[in-house]
Amino acid sequence: MTYALTLRQIEAVTPDVHRLVFDKPEGFDFEPGQAVDLALDKDGWRDEKRPFTFTSLPVDTELEFTIKSYPEHDGVTEQIGQMKPGDKVLIDAPWGAISDEGPGYFIAGGAGVTPFIAILRKRLTDKGTLEGCTLIFSNETEEDIILRQEFEQMPGLRTLFTVTDDDKANGVLHRMIDKDFLSRVIEPEHGHYYICGPDKMIEAISDALKELGVDEKRIVTEDFD
Ligand SMILES: Cc1cc2nc3c(=O)[nH]c(=O)nc-3n(C[C@H](O)[C@H](O)[C@H](O)COP(=O)(O)OP(=O)(O)OC[C@H]3O[C@@H](n4cnc5c(N)ncnc54)[C@H](O)[C@@H]3O)c2cc1C
Repeated sequence: MTYALTLRQIEAVTPDVHRLVFDKPEGFDFEPGQAVDLALDKDGWRDEKRPFTFTSLPVDTELEFTIKSYPEHDGVTEQIGQMKPGDKVLIDAPWGAISDEGPGYFIAGGAGVTPFIAILRKRLTDKGTLEGCTLIFSNETEEDIILRQEFEQMPGLRTLFTVTDDDKANGVLHRMIDKDFLSRVIEPEHGHYYICGPDKMIEAISDALKELGVDEKRIVTEDFD
């Protein structure tokens, strides 16, 4: 089943990332953390499907995406950053590997945070607190950090932001998420470990977590490459 969605609103949340709000088709449903294959509904682009994650909640009356543009790709995300209200996209049925299996550590690189936006918003709506949840979010620079203020204000959520290429950034860590870092911030015997980002990052962090004693069954990953 393919759905045509009309863009209602587009706004920048960082210099490269846009929040896009679309009309929601009647009866359309998804789980927080799920993604969908999306194509631009214009000549030359309808076969160029790319996966993006819903960042709105299933109960919301509109569908929201949070999408990072890579103009150097000359691809779909460059086009998405230039969309105007009234433009249309085509989406297929929702799918995805990451869903909320319980509190724990949400580890993201760049746009890999999008499934956690939906999952943490839903958990907060349902439980009223994110007690027991830690967000570890890595970016190149401070201005790349998506929804920093919203995350910092989520009750109960512990946030650890780190940047890898921004000497001047304030109030954040300046390092990679590696075994040494994780050993200082996690309790290996507790919680689930959700990792979303480029495949190399997922592999390195999963290996580090296992070496620190985290049971493989509590590691949930989604590859954003
Ligand atoms: C399940 C899932 C959910 C996702 N959800 C989101 C989300 O909610 N928000 C979000 O922002 N992203 C999300 N992503 C990532 C998103 O799908 C990609 O950023 C997107 O597919 C990139 O599309 P593109 O057409 O712009 O570029 P691509 O399809 O990556 O590239 C187009 C062309 O650009 C060239 N190219 C590729 N890489 C480079 C490079 N590094 N430098 C120069 N040129 C290059 C290649 O020639 C390629 O053919 C998700 C990914 C997955 C797997």
